[in-house]
Amino acid sequence: RYDGEFFRRWLVLTAAAVEREAGRLTELDSAIGDADHGVNLRRGFAAVTAVLDKEAPDTPGAVLTLAGRQLISTVGGASGPLYGTLLRRTGKELGVEATVGRERLAAALGAGVAAVAQLGGAQAGDKTMLDALLPAVEGLGESFAAARDAAAQGALATVPLQARKGRASYLGERSIGHEDPGAASSALLIAALAEAAA
Ligand code: ADP
Ligand code: MG
Ligand code: MG
Repeated sequence: RYDGEFFRRWLVLTAAAVEREAGRLTELDSAIGDADHGVNLRRGFAAVTAVLDKEAPDTPGAVLTLAGRQLISTVGGASGPLYGTLLRRTGKELGVEATVGRERLAAALGAGVAAVAQLGGAQAGDKTMLDALLPAVEGLGESFAAARDAAAQGALATVPLQARKGRASYLGERSIGHEDPGAASSALLIAALAEAAA
């Protein structure tokens, strides 16, 4: 079972991965967007780790809802409200329990991903973060490692797709041939989850 400290560690590991990969995320966004995805997430997850240190929420739900609120208030781009909604909604689903199991987390994350789809109006195959997150939820029903691998594969599978949502969709067919930056960062988020669980 996984407690608040586990969820804090997940987000700290995500912040470290985003820090490490910020250049690549921004490079991906320079090909089919406005070259700020790494910068946006770096700012957002640095603020998340800072607020978690300051407020020290203790349940899984409280950690995720606080982190989500922080992302919404610090990230200006599309990814801020989308990632913020993901964490907030997942946290809300987890309620006030002190610990949660993997299957409960998988169901909560599924609700969080559905909230992202609703907010952004995107679905599978639109070349967005959902193309990593939806397979991750499926994989998490099996194991953390399966979720990580499914998210990584989902991100790579965005390369041949044409973007139908977000800035990349303005490029039409010219969005084909590039990995979606948000799918790439979602794969980092899920890899950090597997790392926290290992
Ligand atoms: P912005 O596009 O405002 O500069 P970012 O560069 O931080 O924001 O994030 C871009 C990423 O956000 C995209 O790669 C995509 O994965 C995701 N995204 C954009 N619009 C949507 C949407 N409507 N639904 C789901 N994800 C989206
Ligand atoms: Mg951008
Ligand atoms: Mg932008």
